[in-house]
Amino acid sequence: MRKPMAAGNWKMFKTAKEAAQMLLDLKDKVKDVEDREIVLCPTFTALESAVNAVKGSNIKIGAQNLFWEEKGAFTGEIAPGMIKDLGCEYVIIGHSERRQYFGETDATVNKRIFAALKAGLKPIICVGETLQERESEKTFSVIETQIKGGLKDLTKEQMATAVIAYEPVWAIGTGKTASKEQAQEVHAFIRKLLSDMFGKDTASATRILYGGSVKPDNMKDLMSQPDIDGGLVGGASLEADSFSKIIKY
Ligand code: PEP
Repeated sequence: MRKPMAAGNWKMFKTAKEAAQMLLDLKDKVKDVEDREIVLCPTFTALESAVNAVKGSNIKIGAQNLFWEEKGAFTGEIAPGMIKDLGCEYVIIGHSERRQYFGETDATVNKRIFAALKAGLKPIICVGETLQERESEKTFSVIETQIKGGLKDLTKEQMATAVIAYEPVWAIGTGKTASKEQAQEVHAFIRKLLSDMFGKDTASATRILYGGSVKPDNMKDLMSQPDIDGGLVGGASLEADSFSKIIKY
């Protein structure tokens, strides 16, 4: 009932031209894939060329962040409506790099989620513990705080369009993937929290992606777990060859 998703986060890589080139290549490699959803999230400056490159294909485009105001004197920020207007369908919210380097908190994650939904964008909401938090056995309390704070006051209907990504910070860009058991344990915990907050039906319909050094050779193993519904992929989504292998795991 949950369609698996492979979402790529290109972070601050690729110009508009490079994004289009990769997507034309990927489009061809995954043209027959129907049973999973494919999303790529380039930088803001490459969104328009990415949307044009994937037209008529099974690949969707998302942004990596947005601001919560609709317009105004907010130099350097991008409004949800501007992203929607380009033809994007998704937006990543609360990535750990935003939390770590740009002051993102659960309260600002919450504001961004409401703004995304209002503009008709589907949020991919990231949560995850640091290595220090895991080692001090705080993983579950950190995840609970992030989920409860980030998703505060959302209705069931709003939650229905959202995707959660569990990304342990210690596994992002480090080559160190969580074991399938470690990931499953947290995914099941998140689903239980969603069930408490939004009811069982919404919880069992929500996709929870795993992110953190997903590669073509570990995707299948991760996807064998009952609560892992896809991957949010950084480094390995930059090349059409490796990302198409992840999509077709
Ligand atoms: C990410 O950027 O969300 C991510 C999981 O990166 P990587 O796959 O490179 O660890």
